[in-house]
Amino acid sequence: MFQHRALQGLSSAVPVRVSTDRTLRIKVIDSCGMTCTFCHNEGTLVSADNHARPAGPFTPAGRSGRVSIYLATNGARFVAAPIRADDSFRSALERLRDALDLDEAHLTGGEPTLHPELARIVALTGNTGFAVSVTSNGENGERILPGCVQAGLQRVNFSVFGTDPEELAQVQNAKFRRASLAAAKIEALNTSLRVSLDLGLRTCANVVLPDRTHIPRVHQLLETYSPRLSVRVLSSLADGDASLDAIDTLLDELGAEPEEVHLIAGSSGFRIAYRLPNGRRLMVKHIRPLRLPSTCTGCRFNNDVDCQEGYYGLRLYRDPASAFHVGVCIQRMDLCLPVEEFVGSGLCDEIKKLREQEFHDLTA
Ligand code: SF4
Repeated sequence: MFQHRALQGLSSAVPVRVSTDRTLRIKVIDSCGMTCTFCHNEGTLVSADNHARPAGPFTPAGRSGRVSIYLATNGARFVAAPIRADDSFRSALERLRDALDLDEAHLTGGEPTLHPELARIVALTGNTGFAVSVTSNGENGERILPGCVQAGLQRVNFSVFGTDPEELAQVQNAKFRRASLAAAKIEALNTSLRVSLDLGLRTCANVVLPDRTHIPRVHQLLETYSPRLSVRVLSSLADGDASLDAIDTLLDELGAEPEEVHLIAGSSGFRIAYRLPNGRRLMVKHIRPLRLPSTCTGCRFNNDVDCQEGYYGLRLYRDPASAFHVGVCIQRMDLCLPVEEFVGSGLCDEIKKLREQEFHDLTA
């Protein structure tokens, strides 16, 4: 077993479940109505600020007010274009599904619910053999989610950046830090959460906990929404021990008891499920320092400080010429390969072998 502070002190009686990562994160659109200061934008540049540029140098911060925090150093070479529900998308999905036995798709952005054809993308992805979920900031759920449910959407992960306008405004670009704008976004998120729960979707609220000052946000979420809302607390890598201290304090305050550790072979993400005294479940998600055995060896970020996400899993992007690119790291977008090249590459084999080896090691 790898070392991680979150696992220290857990009783050996807490069961450990191991699964294998079979997920694909798909960037369906770059547009977003928020301007969060910490956004990695799935590794890609902000398309609205770079449309007219044929190839680098791309601008990391333009008139949109949005950012892509790794852009200055990640070697991104293409502008991300919206995914279309067409044959070329289906073909890219089939190739990746067959090459790596994938069965779970997470639609990301930008903000996926701003894509006018999201329901068609959900339907096509589902018909290609994937269970489909969406990660959303909640700004457009009321309008788009009902159609997506009919198309087969199974789950929505809402990212909660603030539970009141002041909190949200604090993490927005200065130009967009207006209380009235933030209040409108919070209202939209609350509506989206309600709609999602009413539609019977599996609904999850993800909250990053950088330090103890953010703890009240989690209490507020748990108090405001019914137990049907699954709350997931994410540790913040950038904040290190301050984040882990905050999680410990939160769990103490809630009287949470660890129930299960879920390790995922072939992904740096892992989760611990806790049971609260009222029977409700709280998930805490952490990142462990997983690396691709050969690709990461020569990487200049391969140390405990610079490599923030580790090997998390596969990402799929479309460029304006309808070519699809597979990414393995948002800090190293120069490693992206066209889908046709990727499936026959040593990188694809490396990922397969990593998953098998890890499953063996983690279950041993
Ligand atoms: S996951 Fe690998 S490629 Fe990405 S930053 Fe870390 S060491 Fe580099």
